[in-house]
Amino acid sequence: MSIVEAPWPADESTVAPRHNWTREELRALFGLPLSELMFRAQSIHRRNFDPAEVQISTLFSIKTGGCPEDCAYCPQSAKYDTGTRAEKLMPIDAVLTEARAAREAGASRFCMGAAWRSPRARELAQACAMIEGVKALGLETCATLGMLTAQQARELKTAGLDYYNHNLDSSPEFYREIITTRTFQDRLDTLAHVRAAGIHVCCGGIVGMGETREDRVGMIETLANLPEHPESVPINMLVRVPGTPLADIPPLDPLEFVRTIAVARIAMPRSVVRLSAGREDMSDEMQALCFLAGANSIFYGPKLLTTSNPARDSDQALMDRLGLTPMKTEQIR
Ligand code: SF4
Repeated sequence: MSIVEAPWPADESTVAPRHNWTREELRALFGLPLSELMFRAQSIHRRNFDPAEVQISTLFSIKTGGCPEDCAYCPQSAKYDTGTRAEKLMPIDAVLTEARAAREAGASRFCMGAAWRSPRARELAQACAMIEGVKALGLETCATLGMLTAQQARELKTAGLDYYNHNLDSSPEFYREIITTRTFQDRLDTLAHVRAAGIHVCCGGIVGMGETREDRVGMIETLANLPEHPESVPINMLVRVPGTPLADIPPLDPLEFVRTIAVARIAMPRSVVRLSAGREDMSDEMQALCFLAGANSIFYGPKLLTTSNPARDSDQALMDRLGLTPMKTEQIR
């Protein structure tokens, strides 16, 4: 497909969600001159969102380390010697103290992450109590607790869970290079249970893991062709943590990351695209390009589970310089 045949113009057929994206179309978008790709992404972005607003979430680890899975990028896997200590599930009071602090700092959503393959019954009950407490503080709630059954998803919904995060990580082909302890289909099954329970879906992936552009195309193809687009699509840049198998992977060209954001924005026009892990290694200028490409959410706060994130002050300064303001409530379709 040539450049001129890449999906366009920005009429209703390109701003409305589609679920029949082909790899050829997505490849063509990736291959556009950057100025053209940015123009298309920004045009579509402002048809669906206020381009000056950014949704702010805080991600907090309620249970750190000791995970039995082998995700090659993750410092919390028990299989890698990364210096991350296995800890117990945090007490609910400590979690609620963190949630209050996040609210005071401007977060509208509080995400709770636990390093589990999947929650056991007692663990799920404790997570549900946390969700009820965070919800009572007036925050949107999000959790990432590993694989879920249909029943577990319903229990989380009953507790007041607004969003569940479960990333596809990469293309179906490259996924096997990154994780062997559960399959791509396992991930799709959990996403289906979450959707069926009526919980909003937060699902994206990681780039810079040594995958090809075709894998990035395949990841976005899978996300955009889910029966419903995820309401939140986190796009992470790999944080190369010493001790993990990906510690020495060569860094991805930053402009390829920007292209990935732009193609995700075009393919999922009404989803909130989150600029997630890896921001600490990005210049202010690169983050500005990501916002121009259609990213409209960030994680705010000094830590993302176990890896560091820009300090709140520097994020506030960046938002001020760019004229961005926090989105009060996410514009969910
Ligand atoms: S990404 Fe999640 S499931 Fe994978 S090793 Fe880390 S904590 Fe475990």
